[in-house]
Amino acid sequence: MRKMKTVNIVAGIMLAFALVSCGSEPAKFADVTSERLLNASSTPEEWLTYGGTYDEQRHSGLTQINLDNVDELGVAWTYDLATARGVESTPIVVDGVMYVTSAWSVVHALDARTGEELWVYDPDVDRAVGVNACCDVVNRGVAVWEGKIFVGVIDGRLEALDAETGALIWSRVTVDRSKPYTITGAPRVVKGNVLIGNGGAELGVRGYISAYAADTGDMSWRFYTVPNPSKQPDDAASDAAFEAIGNVSWGDEGAWTTDGGGGTVWDSIIYDDVNDNIIFGVGNGSPWNRDYRDPAQGDNLFLSSIVAVDATSGAYKWHYQTTPGDNWDYTATQTIILADLPVGSDGALRRVAMQAPKNGFFYVIDAATGEFISGEAFVPQNWAIGLDETGRPIELPEARYSDTPYYQAPGALGAHNWHPMAFNPDLNLAYIPAQEIPDAYARDNIFPDREQNWNTGTNLTAGLPMDLDLGTAMALRATLKGRLIAWDPVTQSARWSVEHSNAWNGGVLSTAGGLVFQGRLEGEFSAYNAATGEKLWGQNVKAGAASGPGTYAIDGEQYVTITTGWGSAYALAGGSAYDQPVPPIVGKVVTFKLGGTETIPDPDLILPPRTPKAEAFGDEDLLQTGFDQYHYNCRVCHGPLAISSGVLPDLRWSYITADAEAWNSVVIDGSLAANGMVSFASALSEGDAEAIRAYVLKQAHDGAEMEAMVAAAMAAEADAAAAP
Ligand code: CA
Repeated sequence: MRKMKTVNIVAGIMLAFALVSCGSEPAKFADVTSERLLNASSTPEEWLTYGGTYDEQRHSGLTQINLDNVDELGVAWTYDLATARGVESTPIVVDGVMYVTSAWSVVHALDARTGEELWVYDPDVDRAVGVNACCDVVNRGVAVWEGKIFVGVIDGRLEALDAETGALIWSRVTVDRSKPYTITGAPRVVKGNVLIGNGGAELGVRGYISAYAADTGDMSWRFYTVPNPSKQPDDAASDAAFEAIGNVSWGDEGAWTTDGGGGTVWDSIIYDDVNDNIIFGVGNGSPWNRDYRDPAQGDNLFLSSIVAVDATSGAYKWHYQTTPGDNWDYTATQTIILADLPVGSDGALRRVAMQAPKNGFFYVIDAATGEFISGEAFVPQNWAIGLDETGRPIELPEARYSDTPYYQAPGALGAHNWHPMAFNPDLNLAYIPAQEIPDAYARDNIFPDREQNWNTGTNLTAGLPMDLDLGTAMALRATLKGRLIAWDPVTQSARWSVEHSNAWNGGVLSTAGGLVFQGRLEGEFSAYNAATGEKLWGQNVKAGAASGPGTYAIDGEQYVTITTGWGSAYALAGGSAYDQPVPPIVGKVVTFKLGGTETIPDPDLILPPRTPKAEAFGDEDLLQTGFDQYHYNCRVCHGPLAISSGVLPDLRWSYITADAEAWNSVVIDGSLAANGMVSFASALSEGDAEAIRAYVLKQAHDGAEMEAMVAAAMAAEADAAAAP
C-alpha cells in the first residue's frame, strides 16, 4: 500500500512533467543570459542589446539581404507608436518578440514577425517633467535579461517589467527628484547588473552611472563623474578616483559647486569582456562656460571623457578626456565601439575603443589602458589646431569665447550627436552620422541672475541681431550639412562620404551583406554599398527617421527595422521650418523584408493655419526685451527666432498669442502644465511675458510674408521646370 502510494506520486509527478512539455510549448520571453549576451555576434538572428552586441558595433552577420537584392526590400509591417514626439529607440528583438520604446518612456512588445501588439507599458509620467528634458522626451530603448525588460523613465525611474506580460516587477528612483534629471538612454545589463545614467547638464545636475541588481533592483554601485562641492567621499565607487586625480582638476569656487558640475552619462555604456571593464561616455560641464563653472580653469575630470571601471565593483580603471575643461557642450557620450584593429607595432591587432564625440575628432584608444593611439578631425573644425601626442587638443585661444561671439565649428549640437555609429569589422570602416552645425558662442552676462531652466553661462544668440530677417536665417541654415562618413580608423581618414541636405543625421546599421543602412530627417530610409557609398535603395518612410536601425531573422527570413518620428535637440532647438519640407511627425516602427508589399499609412495631422492670430504691437524696446527673454527662456523648445520645427507648437501660429490674458495664464500661471508647459513665473514677470508675446507676433507677421515669398518662389521654380 505504502509502496503503491510512492509509485503513484512518482507517476503523478511524471505526468505533470509530461503535461508541461507536451502541452502547447511555453513561449520564452527575453530568456537572455550573460552567456547569450557574450555570444550575441554568433546569433545575428537576434538583436539582444542596444548596440547589437557588447562591442556595440551595430554590425549584423546576416547576409540574406545583400548587395545583389537590397533593391527588392519592401515593407513587411508597420506599427503605430502613438506619439507625435521624438522617437530614438532601437528595437530589441529576442525569441520572436520585439521590445521598443516610444516618447515618454512607453514600452511596446510586438510580434517581431507581424508587428502584432502583445502588450504596452506606460510608466504614466507627469508631463510637467518635460521641461527638464533638454532634448525632447525621447527614449532610446530597453535592455532584456532573464525574463525581464528594463526601461529608464524620463522622470528618473529605472523599472523592471515582466517580459511576457509587461507587468511592473520593480521600480527605483535613480535620481534626486528635486533636481532636473532625466533619463533618455537605454539601460545595459552586465553580469546581472542593470546599468543606467541620466541627463540634465544643461539645467544644473551632477552626473553619474549606477548599477542595480537585475533581480532585486538594489543598487550595486554608483560612479560619480564629477566631485561633490566639498570634495569629500560619497561612499561611492568613484571615491578613490577623485581623491587620486579628480578633485585637483577642479577649483574650490565657481558655479560647479551650486550647479552640479554636469558630466552626465546619457548614452554610451559598453562592456569589454576581454578586460572585464564597463566603458562609458561622459557629458559636458554644468554650466558650459568654464569661466563661470570653474574660475581656476581646471581640466574638470571626468567631463567629456571616456571612463572605464571594473565591471563588478565599479572601481576606476582608466579614463581618456577628449575635451579638457569643456566650454562648448562637447560631450563624449557618443557611441563607443570596441574592435581589434591593426594598429599595434608592425600592424599587430590591438583591442581598441573608438569614438567620434561632439568635438569633431575621431579617437582610437587602447581598450585595456585608455592610452591615446590616434585622433583626427572628421569634420571641418576651428577650435583646435590639432591634437598633441597625448591626444590633448591644441586649442585656439579665441575659442574660449568671452563677450565677443566666436563662430565655432562644431557647435553645441556636435559633429556627432546621439545617432548611433556603426563599424564593419570586415572592412575596418566606422560609419559616422556626422554633422556640420556651427554655433556663435558668447558669454551669457546675465547668467548669475538666472533662476530657472536652460542654465549654461553661454549665450548662443548673442551674435543674432533682433531684426535678423528670415531670408538670411534661411540662407545661414542652408550652409549646415549632414554627412554619412565611412571612416578608416587605421589611417584616420575618410574612405567615402555621402552628403545630406539636412544637418541633423540618422543612426547607422552595418551588415555582413555588404550594406550600410541609414534613415534621415527628411523621411528617407536608405541602403548604401558599405565599401563604396553607392546608394542602392531608398524608401520614403513618411516621417523623420533618425534612430538606430536594426536587423533580425525569424524562420530564416531577414528583417530590417527602424523607428520613425522625429524630435530631440535639433528638432526642438533648430529644426527645419522653411528650407526643408517639415516631415510629418508620427512615430512608427517600420519593418522591411525582401518582397514585402505592405504600405506605410499616410500621417493624419491637423496643424493650425500659418497666419498671425493678432495685430503686431510694441515699440523697439519692448521687442528687444521680448527677443532676449524669448531666447533665454523659450528658444530651446520652441525654436530660434520663434520658428518651431513642429515638434512643439509654433508659437507664431498659436491662437493663444491673440489674447494677453490667455498668454499669461499659460506662461505665468502654468495652465498647460499637464501638457508639459510649466509656469515660468520664477523666471519671467508679466511684463516680460507680454514682451515675448509682442516678439512672437512680430515674427508671425514677418513669417507670413516669408511664407508668401517662399510659395511664390516655389511656384516660379515649378513654372521654370515645366517650361520647354
Ligand atoms: Ca549637453
